[in-house]
Amino acid sequence: MSANIALVGNPNCGKTTLFNALTGEKQYVGNWPGVTTEKKTGVPKNHSGLLITDLPGLYSLHAYTQEEETAKNYIFSDKCQAVINVVDGVNIERNLYLTLQLIETGKPIVAAINMSDVLEKRGIKTDYKKMSELLGIPIIAVTASKGQGIEALLELAEDLIRNERGEPSCLKKTVVYGAELQSLIENAKRIFSSQNANYALWRAVAFFDTGKDGGYKGNFDILTKQADALAERQNMDTDMLVSDGKYDFITGLLRRVRKGGSSKKNFSKKIDAVVTHRIFAVPIFFAVMLCIFAVSFGPPGQALKNVFGYLYGRLIIDGASALLTKAGVSEMTYGLIIQGILSGAGAVLSFLPEIALLFISLSLLEDSGYMARAAFISDRLLSKSGLSGKSFIPMLMGFGCSVPAIIASRTLENDRQRRLTMMIIPFMSCGARLPIYAVFASVFFPDSVPLIIFSLYLLGIIIAVLSAFILKKPVLKGNKGEFILELPEYRMPSLKNIRIHTLARIKDFALKAGTVIVVSCAAVWLLSNLGTDFKMTGDTGESILAALGRFIAPMFKPLGFDDWRAVTALLSGLTAKEAVVGSLEILFNISTNPTVLTSVFTQQSAYSFLVFTLLYTPCAAALAALKRELKSVGWFLISIAYQLIAAWLTAFLIYNVIGIFKGL
Ligand code: GDP
Ligand code: MG
Repeated sequence: MSANIALVGNPNCGKTTLFNALTGEKQYVGNWPGVTTEKKTGVPKNHSGLLITDLPGLYSLHAYTQEEETAKNYIFSDKCQAVINVVDGVNIERNLYLTLQLIETGKPIVAAINMSDVLEKRGIKTDYKKMSELLGIPIIAVTASKGQGIEALLELAEDLIRNERGEPSCLKKTVVYGAELQSLIENAKRIFSSQNANYALWRAVAFFDTGKDGGYKGNFDILTKQADALAERQNMDTDMLVSDGKYDFITGLLRRVRKGGSSKKNFSKKIDAVVTHRIFAVPIFFAVMLCIFAVSFGPPGQALKNVFGYLYGRLIIDGASALLTKAGVSEMTYGLIIQGILSGAGAVLSFLPEIALLFISLSLLEDSGYMARAAFISDRLLSKSGLSGKSFIPMLMGFGCSVPAIIASRTLENDRQRRLTMMIIPFMSCGARLPIYAVFASVFFPDSVPLIIFSLYLLGIIIAVLSAFILKKPVLKGNKGEFILELPEYRMPSLKNIRIHTLARIKDFALKAGTVIVVSCAAVWLLSNLGTDFKMTGDTGESILAALGRFIAPMFKPLGFDDWRAVTALLSGLTAKEAVVGSLEILFNISTNPTVLTSVFTQQSAYSFLVFTLLYTPCAAALAALKRELKSVGWFLISIAYQLIAAWLTAFLIYNVIGIFKGL
């Protein structure tokens, strides 16, 4: 039987980093609050008796959002036997608030003071032995990002499980609250204890904090009267008395155990003076993004892509071709494998280097703390649309993949805002759409590939924000949420995090190329080589796919393209957006002769095609996530309809506006 230990702490204090260090797992770490939205478990290598759970972050045990609720419920469940309280040593005042609450629950707890490297750099010294005595819990300093203090922490955790204690020892030694409140709390605690309530002390404090009696019987009326009288005398509500008591206690505690520091804190402030500047903030953000695109899709990315493409052609295609010829397979099998599956998947895979570069750059920004500023900057704009800057983070995750982004919208406490955020996330251009942009941009706009791709990303953001404005009325009904994102300190990005982020994305991409894309490429090849009589046909124009495509194609005529191949490529994109490139490869053989696309598209209609690709209904996986998280078939169908209409209308508008300018 292994013991369950939960990692509990404020958002962005390093829980997931610690979790990864403790268990050797590779969970997503980001330098902003709200990255972990579901609990994850893992077993440390040499301590198989422990089962560690990584929880979403909490500022307080009174939960406000759905993910905080998840964390809170887990902590209070019997399953959770002990708690490792991760404390961000740099923001220790705020973090210890939760620590005091945890101590009040009486759960066995060990505090891991994280970010010790930063404290050391700033010359802050803490007497943890004394602090441990004053709080009555074991305390240890760790640096999660460097794996320091991990082994000792695990040993403390094991000790904790071995001598599970019931009563919080903290309050035996120290009085946290003023004498009057303290005695009221003791009285309330007696009421709860007499009914064998678990967490009696916590319930007692919570009674004065939130006014909830948890359904227990007793003379709560008298207590409430006494509390009101106290509040009157102190000129402060009891919940304020409770939190003030905690903060006063923390200040006193730190005065006794901490020395030095606070000279380097201005570093973040200085950078922020520039990057969150009232006027320069937005231009700086766009300049940064443009640089990223120039690296990923400009000469560096393209050079890498060429190398990769060459190797794939020589090693995989030529190799398989030789093998198949030797084995003497039928023409159909040869075509299916070489021209269908391998070429289709290869066309998709060839974008791996560019995508990797993009994700390395994005995770650099994220881990340094800059992305949290971007969210902060966007708050002003987003709040006008009824969203909050908090929606920005899930939206930003949508640049990677809509699926985790949709799940990440759980950080929004307001249900309506959450729904609205989920509905517009698919407009954020995900990594899977990149290959399509890259193919078209290099054929039709060879001199400005990064700029074209950047413009599509920008358009996605614009349509998302516009949609928020449009959908605000029906979806939000005038409800507004508050933005409480705090700005994390700037940090040197850690190689390990960047590796984890980038590898996860690449794996995802390659895995899809190996599964969904293979199936859809095989299907496209077969359907484009079988005639309507289900026999092989030499002329793809006579194929089943052509018939299907021609049937739908007229719908796209107003957008400037009605070639059946273009239309069926879009259809195949419903399985996964990468499949569009796979299909184009099979139908046009674009990798050997990309300019064939000019026989079907003009610059104008190519851009219109890209706009449609950007905005139309996301892939099957994202739709599944959307359906699950929206928890309503009605809203799900509305989302799909909205996305299709938005895609068609925007592409139509842009196509015609370009037409007008061309005509001038
Ligand atoms: P969570 O929200 O509590 O799960 O926090 P994360 O594990 O996602 O970490 C938040 C940020 O803090 C990331 O940028 C980490 O790289 C960084 N971080 C975590 N632990 C340490 C540490 O010990 N030292 C330093 N300097 N940074 C850390
Ligand atoms: Mg986390």
